[in-house]
Amino acid sequence: MSLLTVGSVAFDAIETPFGKTDKIIGGAGTYIALSSSYFTNDQKIVSVVGEDFPNETLEDLKARGIDIDGIQIKEGEKTFFWSGKYHNDMNSRDTLVTELNVLGDFDPIIPESYQGVDYLMLGNLAPSVQRQVIERLNERPKLIAMDTMNFWMDIAWDDLMQTIKMVDVLIINDEEARQLSKEYSLVKAAKVIMDMGPKYLIIKKGEHGALLFNTNGNVFFAPALPLEEVFDPTGAGDTFAGGFVGYLAKTDDISFDNMKRAVVTGSAMASFCVEKFGTERLQNLSQGEIYNRIMEFVDLAQFDIKKELV
Ligand code: AMP
Repeated sequence: MSLLTVGSVAFDAIETPFGKTDKIIGGAGTYIALSSSYFTNDQKIVSVVGEDFPNETLEDLKARGIDIDGIQIKEGEKTFFWSGKYHNDMNSRDTLVTELNVLGDFDPIIPESYQGVDYLMLGNLAPSVQRQVIERLNERPKLIAMDTMNFWMDIAWDDLMQTIKMVDVLIINDEEARQLSKEYSLVKAAKVIMDMGPKYLIIKKGEHGALLFNTNGNVFFAPALPLEEVFDPTGAGDTFAGGFVGYLAKTDDISFDNMKRAVVTGSAMASFCVEKFGTERLQNLSQGEIYNRIMEFVDLAQFDIKKELV
Protein backbone atom coordinates (compact mmCIF):
# COMPACT_ATOMS: atom_id res chain seq x y z
CA MET A 1 0.00 0.00 0.00
CA SER A 2 1.16 3.54 -0.63
CA LEU A 3 2.47 5.79 2.13
CA LEU A 4 2.83 9.56 2.16
CA THR A 5 5.30 11.05 4.63
CA VAL A 6 5.38 14.75 5.42
CA GLY A 7 8.27 16.08 7.47
CA SER A 8 11.46 18.07 7.64
CA VAL A 9 14.44 17.21 5.48
CA ALA A 10 17.23 19.03 7.22
CA PHE A 11 20.77 19.60 8.35
CA ASP A 12 21.55 18.66 11.95
CA ALA A 13 24.58 19.17 14.16
CA ILE A 14 24.64 16.77 17.09
CA GLU A 15 26.70 16.56 20.24
CA THR A 16 26.58 13.49 22.51
CA PRO A 17 28.97 12.29 25.24
CA PHE A 18 30.54 10.14 22.47
CA GLY A 19 31.32 12.89 20.01
CA LYS A 20 30.20 15.77 17.90
CA THR A 21 29.17 16.10 14.26
CA ASP A 22 29.35 18.99 11.83
CA LYS A 23 26.28 19.54 9.66
CA ILE A 24 24.93 16.13 8.73
CA ILE A 25 21.73 15.07 7.01
CA GLY A 26 18.76 14.87 9.35
CA GLY A 27 15.15 15.89 9.60
CA ALA A 28 12.10 14.02 10.83
CA GLY A 29 10.92 13.34 7.26
CA THR A 30 14.29 11.84 6.35
CA TYR A 31 14.30 9.46 9.32
CA ILE A 32 10.67 8.43 8.77
CA ALA A 33 11.15 7.84 5.04
CA LEU A 34 14.40 5.90 5.43
CA SER A 35 12.85 3.70 8.10
CA SER A 36 9.63 2.96 6.22
CA SER A 37 11.49 2.37 2.95
CA TYR A 38 12.41 -1.08 4.35
CA PHE A 39 8.70 -1.98 4.37
CA THR A 40 7.04 -0.29 1.41
CA ASN A 41 8.35 0.58 -2.02
CA ASP A 42 5.35 2.79 -2.72
CA GLN A 43 6.37 5.79 -0.64
CA LYS A 44 6.06 9.50 -1.34
CA ILE A 45 7.41 12.44 0.60
CA VAL A 46 6.36 16.08 0.88
CA SER A 47 9.00 18.46 2.21
CA VAL A 48 11.10 21.51 1.40
CA VAL A 49 14.86 22.16 1.24
CA GLY A 50 17.07 25.07 0.23
CA GLU A 51 19.49 25.20 -2.68
CA ASP A 52 22.30 24.27 -0.25
CA PHE A 53 20.90 20.76 0.18
CA PRO A 54 22.99 18.04 -1.53
CA ASN A 55 21.42 16.60 -4.62
CA GLU A 56 23.09 13.21 -3.91
CA THR A 57 20.97 12.84 -0.77
CA LEU A 58 17.78 13.46 -2.73
CA GLU A 59 18.97 10.98 -5.37
CA ASP A 60 19.71 8.47 -2.62
CA LEU A 61 16.13 8.75 -1.33
CA LYS A 62 14.91 8.23 -4.89
CA ALA A 63 17.15 5.18 -5.32
CA ARG A 64 15.41 3.70 -2.27
CA GLY A 65 12.11 3.85 -4.12
CA ILE A 66 10.92 7.06 -2.43
CA ASP A 67 9.03 9.43 -4.75
CA ILE A 68 10.62 12.84 -4.11
CA ASP A 69 8.49 14.88 -6.54
CA GLY A 70 6.92 16.49 -3.44
CA ILE A 71 10.24 17.86 -2.14
CA GLN A 72 10.38 21.53 -3.09
CA ILE A 73 13.86 23.02 -3.66
CA LYS A 74 13.88 26.75 -2.89
CA GLU A 75 16.37 28.71 -4.98
CA GLY A 76 18.45 31.20 -2.98
CA GLU A 77 17.19 29.86 0.37
CA LYS A 78 18.69 27.72 3.12
CA THR A 79 17.63 24.33 4.41
CA PHE A 80 16.16 23.93 7.92
CA PHE A 81 18.96 23.56 10.49
CA TRP A 82 18.69 22.03 13.94
CA SER A 83 21.38 21.47 16.53
CA GLY A 84 21.11 19.58 19.80
CA LYS A 85 23.29 18.46 22.69
CA TYR A 86 22.53 15.34 24.72
CA HIS A 87 23.07 15.08 28.46
CA ASN A 88 25.10 12.20 29.92
CA ASP A 89 22.00 10.04 30.44
CA MET A 90 21.28 10.31 26.66
CA ASN A 91 17.58 10.60 27.49
CA SER A 92 17.40 14.36 27.64
CA ARG A 93 18.83 16.99 25.33
CA ASP A 94 18.99 20.72 24.86
CA THR A 95 18.15 22.27 21.54
CA LEU A 96 21.03 24.65 20.77
CA VAL A 97 19.87 26.07 17.45
CA THR A 98 16.70 25.98 15.37
CA GLU A 99 16.98 27.89 12.09
CA LEU A 100 13.66 27.44 10.33
CA ASN A 101 14.87 28.89 6.99
CA VAL A 102 12.72 27.25 4.25
CA LEU A 103 10.41 25.68 6.86
CA GLY A 104 9.41 29.14 8.10
CA ASP A 105 6.81 29.62 5.36
CA PHE A 106 6.42 26.03 4.20
CA ASP A 107 3.44 25.56 1.90
CA PRO A 108 3.03 21.77 1.58
CA ILE A 109 2.19 21.31 -2.09
CA ILE A 110 0.79 17.87 -2.90
CA PRO A 111 1.69 16.70 -6.42
CA GLU A 112 -1.33 15.38 -8.35
CA SER A 113 0.32 11.95 -8.56
CA TYR A 114 0.25 11.72 -4.74
CA GLN A 115 -3.56 11.82 -4.57
CA GLY A 116 -5.31 8.62 -3.45
CA VAL A 117 -2.52 7.63 -1.06
CA ASP A 118 -3.48 4.87 1.42
CA TYR A 119 -1.50 5.82 4.54
CA LEU A 120 -0.39 9.24 5.77
CA MET A 121 2.38 9.94 8.29
CA LEU A 122 2.53 13.55 9.48
CA GLY A 123 5.98 14.17 10.93
CA ASN A 124 6.58 16.84 13.55
CA LEU A 125 5.77 20.19 11.89
CA ALA A 126 3.52 23.16 12.62
CA PRO A 127 0.04 21.67 13.24
CA SER A 128 -1.44 24.13 10.72
CA VAL A 129 0.84 22.67 8.02
CA GLN A 130 -0.05 19.12 9.04
CA ARG A 131 -3.75 20.03 8.76
CA GLN A 132 -3.25 21.64 5.35
CA VAL A 133 -1.88 18.34 4.06
CA ILE A 134 -4.97 16.44 5.25
CA GLU A 135 -7.23 19.09 3.71
CA ARG A 136 -5.38 19.01 0.39
CA LEU A 137 -5.88 15.28 -0.08
CA ASN A 138 -8.99 14.62 -2.20
CA GLU A 139 -9.71 11.39 -0.34
CA ARG A 140 -9.09 10.63 3.31
CA PRO A 141 -6.32 8.00 3.64
CA LYS A 142 -7.15 4.71 5.41
CA LEU A 143 -5.06 5.80 8.36
CA ILE A 144 -3.51 9.10 9.41
CA ALA A 145 -0.73 9.05 12.00
CA MET A 146 0.78 12.19 13.50
CA ASP A 147 3.78 13.19 15.59
CA THR A 148 4.06 16.47 17.48
CA MET A 149 6.13 18.05 20.27
CA ASN A 150 5.97 20.32 23.33
CA PHE A 151 6.96 23.33 21.26
CA TRP A 152 3.61 23.31 19.41
CA MET A 153 1.70 22.80 22.68
CA ASP A 154 3.37 25.99 23.95
CA ILE A 155 2.84 28.20 20.93
CA ALA A 156 -0.01 26.74 18.81
CA TRP A 157 -2.42 25.02 21.20
CA ASP A 158 -5.65 25.78 19.31
CA ASP A 159 -4.14 24.73 15.98
CA LEU A 160 -2.84 21.56 17.55
CA MET A 161 -6.28 20.70 18.96
CA GLN A 162 -7.86 21.14 15.53
CA THR A 163 -5.30 18.89 13.86
CA ILE A 164 -5.26 16.19 16.55
CA LYS A 165 -9.03 15.88 16.11
CA MET A 166 -8.50 14.83 12.48
CA VAL A 167 -5.98 12.00 12.93
CA ASP A 168 -6.33 8.31 13.81
CA VAL A 169 -3.04 7.69 15.63
CA LEU A 170 -1.05 10.17 17.71
CA ILE A 171 2.59 9.26 18.42
CA ILE A 172 4.24 11.25 21.22
CA ASN A 173 6.63 10.70 24.13
CA ASP A 174 5.73 10.47 27.82
CA GLU A 175 6.69 14.06 28.65
CA GLU A 176 4.58 15.33 25.73
CA ALA A 177 1.63 13.13 26.79
CA ARG A 178 1.77 14.64 30.28
CA GLN A 179 1.90 18.19 28.96
CA LEU A 180 -0.90 17.58 26.46
CA SER A 181 -3.25 15.92 28.98
CA LYS A 182 -2.18 17.75 32.14
CA GLU A 183 -2.23 14.30 33.82
CA TYR A 184 0.81 12.60 35.36
CA SER A 185 -0.51 9.02 35.10
CA LEU A 186 0.01 7.87 31.52
CA VAL A 187 -3.15 5.75 31.69
CA LYS A 188 -5.21 8.81 32.64
CA ALA A 189 -3.29 10.88 30.09
CA ALA A 190 -4.14 8.38 27.35
CA LYS A 191 -7.88 8.70 28.09
CA VAL A 192 -7.75 12.49 28.04
CA ILE A 193 -5.77 12.54 24.77
CA MET A 194 -8.00 10.03 22.98
CA ASP A 195 -10.98 12.19 23.99
CA MET A 196 -9.33 14.90 21.84
CA GLY A 197 -9.93 12.74 18.74
CA PRO A 198 -7.38 9.99 17.94
CA LYS A 199 -8.63 6.40 18.24
CA TYR A 200 -5.11 5.17 18.95
CA LEU A 201 -2.30 6.66 21.00
CA ILE A 202 1.33 5.61 21.17
CA ILE A 203 3.37 6.92 24.07
CA LYS A 204 7.12 6.41 23.59
CA LYS A 205 9.19 6.12 26.73
CA GLY A 206 12.69 6.16 25.22
CA GLU A 207 14.83 3.38 26.66
CA HIS A 208 11.74 2.17 28.58
CA GLY A 209 9.75 1.09 25.53
CA ALA A 210 6.42 2.21 24.13
CA LEU A 211 2.74 1.93 25.06
CA LEU A 212 -0.12 1.54 22.59
CA PHE A 213 -3.67 2.43 23.66
CA ASN A 214 -7.00 2.41 21.86
CA THR A 215 -10.38 3.85 22.70
CA ASN A 216 -11.77 0.35 23.45
CA GLY A 217 -9.56 0.18 26.53
CA ASN A 218 -6.88 -2.11 25.05
CA VAL A 219 -3.28 -1.52 26.08
CA PHE A 220 -0.05 -3.04 24.73
CA PHE A 221 3.50 -2.52 25.91
CA ALA A 222 6.63 -3.10 23.81
CA PRO A 223 9.98 -2.94 25.60
CA ALA A 224 13.00 -1.17 24.16
CA LEU A 225 15.97 -3.41 23.50
CA PRO A 226 18.60 -3.10 26.26
CA LEU A 227 21.55 -1.89 24.16
CA GLU A 228 25.12 -1.79 25.39
CA GLU A 229 25.88 1.40 23.52
CA VAL A 230 23.64 4.23 22.47
CA PHE A 231 25.62 6.67 20.34
CA ASP A 232 22.98 9.13 19.23
CA PRO A 233 19.23 9.09 19.96
CA THR A 234 18.47 11.77 17.33
CA GLY A 235 15.67 10.66 15.07
CA ALA A 236 14.82 7.57 17.12
CA GLY A 237 11.23 8.75 17.54
CA ASP A 238 10.86 9.43 13.82
CA THR A 239 12.49 6.12 12.93
CA PHE A 240 10.00 4.43 15.27
CA ALA A 241 7.13 6.19 13.49
CA GLY A 242 8.53 5.17 10.08
CA GLY A 243 8.80 1.52 11.09
CA PHE A 244 5.30 1.61 12.63
CA VAL A 245 3.50 3.14 9.68
CA GLY A 246 5.71 1.34 7.13
CA TYR A 247 4.72 -2.00 8.64
CA LEU A 248 1.03 -1.04 8.56
CA ALA A 249 1.32 0.06 4.91
CA LYS A 250 3.07 -3.20 4.05
CA THR A 251 0.54 -5.45 5.78
CA ASP A 252 -2.51 -3.23 5.15
CA ASP A 253 -4.13 -4.31 8.41
CA ILE A 254 -5.07 -1.72 11.02
CA SER A 255 -6.43 -4.09 13.65
CA PHE A 256 -5.14 -3.61 17.20
CA ASP A 257 -3.28 -6.95 16.98
CA ASN A 258 -1.42 -5.84 13.89
CA MET A 259 -0.66 -2.46 15.46
CA LYS A 260 1.11 -4.39 18.23
CA ARG A 261 3.40 -5.91 15.58
CA ALA A 262 3.85 -2.46 14.06
CA VAL A 263 4.90 -1.03 17.45
CA VAL A 264 7.52 -3.78 17.85
CA THR A 265 8.72 -3.16 14.29
CA GLY A 266 9.03 0.57 15.04
CA SER A 267 10.93 -0.20 18.24
CA ALA A 268 13.31 -2.50 16.34
CA MET A 269 14.02 0.18 13.72
CA ALA A 270 14.62 2.79 16.46
CA SER A 271 17.08 0.42 18.15
CA PHE A 272 19.19 0.46 14.96
CA CYS A 273 18.96 4.24 14.61
CA VAL A 274 20.62 4.98 17.96
CA GLU A 275 23.65 2.75 17.26
CA LYS A 276 25.38 5.33 15.06
CA PHE A 277 25.32 9.08 14.49
CA GLY A 278 22.51 10.58 12.44
CA THR A 279 20.96 8.42 9.72
CA GLU A 280 24.12 6.32 9.19
CA ARG A 281 22.80 3.07 10.65
CA LEU A 282 19.57 3.33 8.64
CA GLN A 283 21.41 3.51 5.34
CA ASN A 284 22.33 -0.12 4.83
CA LEU A 285 20.19 -2.52 6.83
CA SER A 286 19.36 -5.94 5.47
CA GLN A 287 15.95 -7.58 5.76
CA GLY A 288 17.69 -10.37 7.70
CA GLU A 289 19.08 -7.94 10.27
CA ILE A 290 15.64 -6.37 10.71
CA TYR A 291 13.94 -9.74 11.13
CA ASN A 292 16.55 -10.93 13.65
CA ARG A 293 16.20 -7.70 15.63
CA ILE A 294 12.41 -8.08 15.74
CA MET A 295 12.88 -11.66 17.01
CA GLU A 296 15.12 -10.31 19.79
CA PHE A 297 12.15 -8.24 20.91
CA VAL A 298 9.89 -11.29 20.81
CA ASP A 299 12.37 -13.27 22.95
CA LEU A 300 12.89 -10.37 25.33
CA ALA A 301 9.27 -10.19 26.41
CA GLN A 302 8.23 -13.84 26.12
CA PHE A 303 7.96 -16.17 29.11
CA ASP A 304 5.96 -19.19 30.33
CA ILE A 305 4.51 -19.66 33.74
CA LYS A 306 2.75 -22.70 35.23
CA LYS A 307 -0.50 -22.06 37.10
CA GLU A 308 0.38 -24.53 39.91
CA LEU A 309 3.61 -22.63 40.65
CA VAL A 310 1.90 -19.30 41.24
P1 AMP B 1 13.68 13.35 17.20
O1 AMP B 1 15.04 12.99 17.75
O2 AMP B 1 12.85 12.15 16.88
O3 AMP B 1 12.97 14.35 18.06
O4 AMP B 1 13.91 14.07 15.79
C1 AMP B 1 15.03 14.84 15.52
C2 AMP B 1 14.89 15.41 14.12
O5 AMP B 1 13.82 16.34 14.09
C3 AMP B 1 16.14 16.15 13.69
O6 AMP B 1 16.71 15.49 12.59
C4 AMP B 1 15.68 17.57 13.36
O7 AMP B 1 16.17 18.02 12.11
C5 AMP B 1 14.17 17.49 13.35
N1 AMP B 1 13.54 18.65 14.01
C6 AMP B 1 13.89 19.22 15.19
N2 AMP B 1 13.08 20.27 15.48
C7 AMP B 1 12.19 20.37 14.45
C8 AMP B 1 11.11 21.27 14.14
N3 AMP B 1 10.77 22.30 14.96
N4 AMP B 1 10.40 21.06 13.00
C9 AMP B 1 10.74 20.04 12.18
N5 AMP B 1 11.74 19.17 12.39
C10 AMP B 1 12.47 19.32 13.51
